Amino acid sequence: MDASSISPVSQTHTLYPPARAFFIYRCPHSDCDGEFDLAEIVRQAVSDGTHEAHGSLVCAGARPAEKSSKRVCELKLSYTIIARPSMGG
Ligand SMILES: [Zn+2]
Repeated sequence: MDASSISPVSQTHTLYPPARAFFIYRCPHSDCDGEFDLAEIVRQAVSDGTHEAHGSLVCAGARPAEKSSKRVCELKLSYTIIARPSMGG
């Protein structure tokens, strides 16, 4: 009879992703081994007064081509980074 209520315990998970890994994106081509490393660009955007960075990167990864040869992917990635200071912190 004694139905003691079970209070859900609130949990907060704060994630601290490793900054470097957090800004590395795999090339959207599944057969490409390239990666886009935006860590340095983000770091420059943060240190720069504008806190913004625009530009593009070209994938330097290799994709398998015919006759077991490889060719450079050269997929172009355009990016816009806006770094905002955290408020109320
Ligand atoms: Zn690629």
